[in-house]
Formats: sequence, structure tokens, C-alpha cells
Amino acid sequence: MAENNQNDTVAKIVSLCKRRGVIFQNSEIYGGIQGFYDYGPIGSLMKKNWKDLWIRDNVTRRPDVVMIDGTIITHPRVWEASGHVKNFGDEMVECKKCHHRFRLDLIDNATKCPDCQGEFTAPKKFNILFHTEIGVIEGEKMPTYLRGEACQTIYLDFKNIVDSCRVKIPFGIAQIGKAFRNEITPKNFLYRTREFEQWDIQYFVHPSEMDKWFEYWKAERMAWYQKYFNSSENLHFHQHSPDELVFYAKKAFDIEYNAPWGWAEMEGIHWRSDYDLTQHSKFSGQDLSYRDPITNEKYTPWITETSGGVDRSFFFLLLDAYREDKQDNGEVRTWLKINPKVSAYKMAILPLAANKPELIAKAKALFSELSQKYSVDYDDSSSIGKKYRRQDEIGTPWCLVVDYQTLEDDTVSIRDRDNMSQIRIKLTEVDNWLSEKLK
Ligand code: ATP
Repeated sequence: MAENNQNDTVAKIVSLCKRRGVIFQNSEIYGGIQGFYDYGPIGSLMKKNWKDLWIRDNVTRRPDVVMIDGTIITHPRVWEASGHVKNFGDEMVECKKCHHRFRLDLIDNATKCPDCQGEFTAPKKFNILFHTEIGVIEGEKMPTYLRGEACQTIYLDFKNIVDSCRVKIPFGIAQIGKAFRNEITPKNFLYRTREFEQWDIQYFVHPSEMDKWFEYWKAERMAWYQKYFNSSENLHFHQHSPDELVFYAKKAFDIEYNAPWGWAEMEGIHWRSDYDLTQHSKFSGQDLSYRDPITNEKYTPWITETSGGVDRSFFFLLLDAYREDKQDNGEVRTWLKINPKVSAYKMAILPLAANKPELIAKAKALFSELSQKYSVDYDDSSSIGKKYRRQDEIGTPWCLVVDYQTLEDDTVSIRDRDNMSQIRIKLTEVDNWLSEKLK
């Protein structure tokens, strides 16, 4: 794809997100702040649905995975044990002329500043942990960090979970939570931000079964994304080469999405061996080993980690869903072909005209009934064409119109987002029809 088209697609999604209340630049009235985004009324519902699907498929439908919800601030020693205090960051070069900074691994062997052709300084390492302090009295404040990755809390709670939750190896602990990174070059909308959410599973196994479970989770996570993305061919694995692997990993794979700017990481499948529990055991002085209740064998469990970005994958889901179709009348229809389980609303209920009380009353009654069971929208503003355009752009799969015929025979029309075909059904059948569709 040509450079312009790449930027075009991202720009179009950014614009759609703003126009339709999906995502806004944070602090926009103050000029914005780089690398921070807010989810608007539509986006927050969509993101919640995206996370609920992850929880349903990876936690509640599995007997072997439990979930936690840990804090953002932890004891500072956690980040010493994890290695983040020493090693969390990127090598940067600075342009001597315009003072712009660039990540060494992202400038593709460029020897001059891409912005002004100035000369670079020698590379220097920057730590990207966010600092904060606990306490209010000067001299007694404890410096600590906002968590740079969510998964550390899982290791901290491992012993409590084994002692309290009757889990037996193999088992997993899952978590969705915020992480913070002082990224030097936040870019590509939600792709690289400074505050974001991660979804992680740490799956604890006997060392002899590590390979089997690693392969299991690698396949499982890819299949999960393929289930919700339209184009599976835009998802692939990138295997880490020996020089990319951390010393304790036998192998590692990233699930990548074919983004407009090239293949980009969405989730990592990591071979963590006993590294994390051993480190925290060393630093805390606590025994974090596990005793098998049947064989009585005592060992430190090994871990397969799946660690993905909620916001990053949500952005890729939007890129995957974005459609522009030229209509017979020459107009372009913009719509999101997004899975109905993710869309903010499952159906929009639209009275044909805003100035007909009988239509409004019927439509409102239907909204009251359906909204007990589904997330549905009600809209009696503007013309029907404008209402369709809005629902298409936020990916609402079905639009129901209450029109004059409804007043005569209690039937309504339902328009399908994907092919714009319309059917008529009885008002009393709508609930069953929708529930069948959503199965
Ligand atoms: P990258 O190489 O892109 O910086 P990473 O390898 O450092 O990512 P991990 O530490 O493995 O990423 O984090 C797991 C997941 O968290 C990533 O696959 C990505 O989806 C998400 N993630 C990481 N950094 C960011 C960020 N700055 N903004 C949004 N999502 C992120």
C-alpha cells in the first residue's frame, strides 16, 4: 500500500471515531496530550464487549483459568525483581539540530534525522516506567511506579490463589488491566500509547509439560482472534529469532496484524519458564513453589504467558471492519463490518418520522422492552437516511424502522447492515428474531 493510503486509512478511522463518539483524544480542549485516548459513549460499550468476550472465552467457559483484578501501584521492589527498573526501555538517539528523539530500533538504519537531516547523538538508554510516590509527608514518601505491565500482579497473587482457590496445575490466572509506559514515540492512534490495557493469561504447568502447553496456547489464541476478525489472512505468527529471545525462553511468537504500516504485534506468546516466580521468590524471601497434591512433588511451576493489548487489538479490529462502498447513486457508504457481539448496539430502533406521536410511542415501547435484554439504540432525530448512516458507521448490525404500516398491521422493517436488504416481521417476533441472530 502506498504511504498516503496507509495514513489515509488510519486517519479515516481516527476521524470516524471522533465523529461518532467512539474514541477521543484525551484533554483535547487543552490541545491534547500525546499517547492518551478516551473511549466515548460508543467506544466504551464496544471495548467492554471486546473484553467480555475475552473473559467469557478464556476464563468463565474454562474450568482451569481463574481471574484477578490487581492494582496499578505495587511495592517498588516488584519492579526491581522483574528487571524493569534496570532494563525497561529503549535505546534512543537525539537529533543534534532539532532535538527530536527516535527509537534506535525504529529508524531502520537511518543515519540522519528524518525530520531535518541533522546528525544523531550516540544511542542512550531511557527507562519508560512512570514514577509516582506513596505518602504525603516530605521525606517519608516512598517512590514507586505505575505498573509497566499488568502481569506482575499475577505472580504476586500466585501463592494466595493456590492457597485459597483449589486450583491444581495445570491452571491459568488471567487479568485485564491498565499498564503505563512512558513511550518515547507514541504513534498510530491506539497502537502505541502511554496508558493502555493488557489482557494476560499466565498458565502454570509442570516443567515436563511446558512444550505441550506452549503450543496449545499459541494455537488457542490465534484461533480466538480469527473467530472475531473478518480477514484471517491479515493475522500471522512472527517467530522470535534467537537474538530476539530472552535468555530463559526456548521460543516466543507474536500474533501480528497486517496493519496499513506493515505487520505489527498484537499479542505475545511467551515461554517464561520459572523465571518470574523464582525472581519474586528471591526478592521477597517467600517460597513460591507448588506441591502436587497427588505425587507430593514440590517444584516451581513453569509459565506460558499470553499477553495482548486490549486497545491495540481493538484498533486492529476497527481496521479489519472498516468498509467504504460506492453506491449506485455515486455516494460512498462507510460502515463497520464488526462482529455483532462487539458492536455497541445490537439493533437501532428508529421511528420513521419524529413528528408522529403514534410512531414515537410504538418505537419507545419497543425500546423499553428490548433494552431489558439487549444493548439497543433509539434515535428519533434527523432523517432516516442520516440515521442509517450513523448506525452503519458504528457497526450496528440491524436497524428496525417503525413506519406507517406498523400502525396498520403491527409489522416493522429490519435492515441488514451488511447487504442493506430489508425484511418485514411482526413486532411480537422481534425479540425471538434478534435472539436467534445473536446466537
Ligand atoms: P512493542 O514491541 O510493540 O513495544 P512489547 O513487545 O513491548 O510491544 P509486551 O510487553 O509484550 O509488548 O506487551 C504485550 C502487549 O501489550 C503487546 O502485544 C501490545 O498489544 C500491548 N502493548 C504494549 N505496549 C503498548 C503500547 N505502548 N500501547 C498500546 N499497547 C501496547
